[in-house]
Formats: sequence, structure tokens, C-alpha cells
Amino acid sequence: MDQRLIPLSALQHYAFCPRQCALIHNEQVWADNFLTAQGNLIHERVDSGEPESRKGIKFERGVLVAAPSLGLTGKLDLVESVVATGELFPVEYKRGKPKPSDWDELQLCAQALCLEEMTGTSVTQGALWYHQTRHRHPVQFSTGLREHTITVISQVRDMLKSGITPKAQYGKHCKACSLFDLCQPQLMVRDKSLAYQQRLFSTDTSDEETSE
Ligand code: SF4
Repeated sequence: MDQRLIPLSALQHYAFCPRQCALIHNEQVWADNFLTAQGNLIHERVDSGEPESRKGIKFERGVLVAAPSLGLTGKLDLVESVVATGELFPVEYKRGKPKPSDWDELQLCAQALCLEEMTGTSVTQGALWYHQTRHRHPVQFSTGLREHTITVISQVRDMLKSGITPKAQYGKHCKACSLFDLCQPQLMVRDKSLAYQQRLFSTDTSDEETSE
């Protein structure tokens, strides 16, 4: 069994692009762009805050987690805990705004699963805080979200364990990718169209051969 713990950030990278995830976590390729630099700044600001308590809630920032059964490790932006009950509540800071997909919820749910494994207590809800909209979005860790999260964790683990970096799929998201220059996804499109032309040519030839 592969004992390697996957960083929580790999889930986010996988959601954005499986190739990006493999390049970063298997091939140790990294480059910053404006978006990643801005995201890093937001997380640094959050992480640098001291633990504090207000109105019966304790706030802990930059909380390190490791969950060997899940195979995950990472650092949580903020964990709020209700002093009276010990109830835990993870909060993740995001650079942008809420997305139509459930990937941000999924990443937060993975954090909750890590906290559950470490503390043995149930974590039922958390929140996403979006920098662009200054909005705090509550998230319930439903059975469906938990199942989806566990499925994705195992997909990421399988991909990283295979050591195979998926081929580039050129799309709109590539424009926001910090690895664009290193990945050069347009080359794949060019290769594909070249391969298509070659296939076309070879089909034409075989047709000619058959018709003789
Ligand atoms: S440039 Fe596109 S295909 Fe390449 S890693 Fe980035 S998002 Fe993925």
C-alpha cells in the first residue's frame, strides 16, 4: 500500500486540471502567476493571525492536519471551535467568488474528514470565505458531499500513484494556469491536428489500396 500522504492542495489542483496536479505533486513543477501569488498572500495573512477567543468561539489559524487513514495531510486556514461543546468548524479562504461546481465544498469537506480522523469527533459544517465577494458561505457536510469527496481523494491518489501525467487538454482554464508556459498545451492541440491529418492521409491511401 502506498503510504504517501497527499497534500490537501492536490485536490484543488486536480479539480482545476488533473495534469496540473500531476505536474505539481509528481513532477515537482511549480510556477507562480498573478492569481497564485494573490492566493498565497491571502493565505499568508490568514495563517499569520494569533489564536484568539471571542464570544465563546476559539479561532485557530494555520492548523496542521494529518489523516493517515484518509491518506491526507495539509494546513487549514482557520478552525473555529465552540468552547462550551468542543464542536469544530473549518473555514477556508478563497481568492475568487463562489463557483458553479462543488469543488470548493469538496476541499472543505476533505478538511472536515481530516479533523474527524484526528479528533474522533463529528464535524458537520464549515464555511468558505470569498475574498472577491467578501461573502461567507456556510457548507453542510452531507452524506452525498462526503461520498463525492472520498471518491475524488481516491481518484487523486490513484493518479499520483500511477506516476502517469495526463496529457494536456487545452481549454479556457489554461489561460489562468500558472504552468501554462511549462505545459504548452497548444502543442498538444497542434499534435492532435497533425495526427488527424496523418490519419486522414493514411485512410485515403488504404482506401486507394483496397479499391485496386
Ligand atoms: S496549461 Fe492547461 S492543460 Fe496545462 S496544466 Fe495548465 S490547465 Fe492543465
